[in-house]
Amino acid sequence: MGVTERQSQLAEVEALVQRFPDLPPEAIVKEDLLRTGLAFSEDALRIAAGFKPKAYFIFSFDLIPIVQMKQEEHLRAPEEVALEGGPWDFRRVIVSVRVNPSSPYRVELHDGQLTLTLEGRPLCGVTYQHAPAYYARTARNGKPLHEIAPTIEWGYLIYLTIFRLCQYFGKHEECQFCDINENYRQQVKAGRPYTQVKTVAEVLEALEVIAATDTASGAYTVTGGSITSTLQGKAEVDFYAQYPAAIEAKFPGRWISKMVVQALPKDQVRQFKDAGVQIYHPNYEVWNRRLFDLICPGKARYIGRDEWIRRILDAATVFGPDKVIPNFVAGIEMSRPHGFPTVEEAITSTAEGLEFFMARGVCPRFTTWCPEPLSLLGSTQGGAPLEYHARLLQTWRDTHARHRLPVPPGYGPPGIGQAIFSVSAFMDVIRPAA
Ligand code: SF4
Repeated sequence: MGVTERQSQLAEVEALVQRFPDLPPEAIVKEDLLRTGLAFSEDALRIAAGFKPKAYFIFSFDLIPIVQMKQEEHLRAPEEVALEGGPWDFRRVIVSVRVNPSSPYRVELHDGQLTLTLEGRPLCGVTYQHAPAYYARTARNGKPLHEIAPTIEWGYLIYLTIFRLCQYFGKHEECQFCDINENYRQQVKAGRPYTQVKTVAEVLEALEVIAATDTASGAYTVTGGSITSTLQGKAEVDFYAQYPAAIEAKFPGRWISKMVVQALPKDQVRQFKDAGVQIYHPNYEVWNRRLFDLICPGKARYIGRDEWIRRILDAATVFGPDKVIPNFVAGIEMSRPHGFPTVEEAITSTAEGLEFFMARGVCPRFTTWCPEPLSLLGSTQGGAPLEYHARLLQTWRDTHARHRLPVPPGYGPPGIGQAIFSVSAFMDVIRPAA
């Protein structure tokens, strides 16, 4: 990225903050950080050594591959940063770290304080999160507990990626924005102790330590790649349901229980509910029919877009509509070569999907697209324009408010200064009830 472009990024942020006075400036900067990534000075990385490191909980969520990380950021960068105070007088906002050494956003020391700068201009203060005590411990089989059960969202969410691969394989099946399989390979090559399939026993052992020593966690997610045939002789529903069933038998109600897997038929969704799952995330990724088929070819072929949506609505009758929260990847609908060429068209399409679901009581949420270089789409382009992300925040907030939907459960507190959800700003823009 050239100097001129970098200078224009600060100007663009300032212009959007002016243009959208009803959005918290912190949320606009957060979205920009998530789509652009974050650089660290050597001092900022040295200080991070005493704090919670990036666990690579499922995807890489970085803008460069590990082999290009000259400062070994993959071992040293923090999981998340809290932004607060400083010249822009930020209210606290939590942002997931997406490594990009050439980002115009950089964490560095100013007057001895960790500071977020944009093109060298200080914006706000930065703090890292202390690692929970259990991060220093290992399971009986020698695996680090932070590999089995890392936490994100400032410690609120225990993230259990049970199966670190996806059976959608190659460019004709994998979701085109996803680097789960490539990330697994690069992490193993780099020496990270990644577990391909976590056992029920090691998950329970990790949770036993967390239950005894940690007070910050309030929810857990069971997830992993899709299973199109079987894994260890089990179909997708049977494989994944055994984890919440075992967790809820041992720690009934200790955490909010969430499941992120494909949109499955209603009888299988009931199996999850019977296993103790409270919130179900059958992620639809992108609303537009043509783009769903092109960007999620495996899901389109095995299940199909209409059936996927039907199953989301069926699941709402099992869990209750407010507890079915499908994700979409914000910005992917503008990806080249098939995406919408203008922000207006992208927002119109995505707003149609939000209206469809929210009118039925189902509240989708989004993660901000990180164009990971090991994914098919991320290898050729950067993210969507910041204007798109600002308009999406407005659209999501206003559609949610117009349908008088409750705050989505399982994400901690809402609102600027309170929210902890770190991979998009949808929780930051929810306004307090009048
Ligand atoms: S279903 Fe798609 S998004 Fe999910 S892990 Fe597989 S390729 Fe990635």
